Amino acid sequence: MKIGFIGLGRMGSGMARNLLRAGHGVAVYNRSREKAEALGREGARITNSPREACGGSEAVITMLSDDPAVAEIVFGAGGIASAMENGCVHISSSTISVAFARRLATEHGGKRQEFLSAPVFGRPEAAESKKLIVVAAGEVKAIERCRPLFDAIGRQTFVVGSEPWQANVVKLGGNLVIASMLEAFGESFAAMRKAGVDHHLFLDVINEIFGSPVYKNYGRIVANEEFDPAAFMLKLGLKDIRLVLEAADELAVPMPLASLIRDHLISGVAHGQADLDWSSLARVVARNAGLES
Ligand code: NAP
Repeated sequence: MKIGFIGLGRMGSGMARNLLRAGHGVAVYNRSREKAEALGREGARITNSPREACGGSEAVITMLSDDPAVAEIVFGAGGIASAMENGCVHISSSTISVAFARRLATEHGGKRQEFLSAPVFGRPEAAESKKLIVVAAGEVKAIERCRPLFDAIGRQTFVVGSEPWQANVVKLGGNLVIASMLEAFGESFAAMRKAGVDHHLFLDVINEIFGSPVYKNYGRIVANEEFDPAAFMLKLGLKDIRLVLEAADELAVPMPLASLIRDHLISGVAHGQADLDWSSLARVVARNAGLES
């Protein structure tokens, strides 16, 4: 397929690369041009604006930080909403708010443009090695048309609803589960350290109980304090938990755990951890227990 790809950060670069490897024609745009140049050497067409990236494309994928970044790229000057041609579908893979996903569906719909939400699970190494889990929602025919793109970036695609925002609810719920695991690791590791038990040994026990690659990977990262460089920055993790709480408010679902994690992430920001990996949430918990890292 002929596609545009906008946002070549930690996640977007690997995703765009796998689309190229699968034989799709990819026009790329990134605010800082140097990240696009690496992909240009691998066969992507480098463009100078979001508008240019989606010109003549059957689909345009955005993988940007947050709601304001997506708003800028879609509705700003030279944005894709004013450039998408008939039959072009906008696929939003960023982790954005449920409310903003609804706005995107409404505004694109008003212009007779198609819109799908397809956020992803997996860190940059999974994006690079085509191991992402794609969670898609929207109109069935549009999803089927875009399936070759989802197959190119991930190991499995789940279709979770006919309304795009439903995929965003799933993504946010999933991130709350991961953040809760990080909080639990932080609390348990702090207890092990104070009890004089080797926390790596504790992790071996946990891995035997859960047998989960996610527990194994994050457990190792937390146990070894591998927080820098970040694969997923704590400030983006805080953005996500805030979005979880917004959705919880709208859906009238009390989420005391999400509220607690939000406060711990804010404490992380206050202690200079914004650009560290979000698993450094465990450092906040350790600090609360009087432990230095
Ligand atoms: P990142 O490395 O910080 O990349 C962010 C991208 O957004 C960059 O291309 C950046 O452009 C662009 N951007 C930010 N603000 C912009 C603006 N105002 N206008 C235009 N472009 C803008 O972030 P990431 O880790 O790839 O995450 C991207 C999205 O995926 C986020 O929604 C995140 O929550 C989600 N996600 C991340 C992970 C992970 O493990 N990292 C996993 C799943 C989902 P510049 O290069 O010019 O700064």
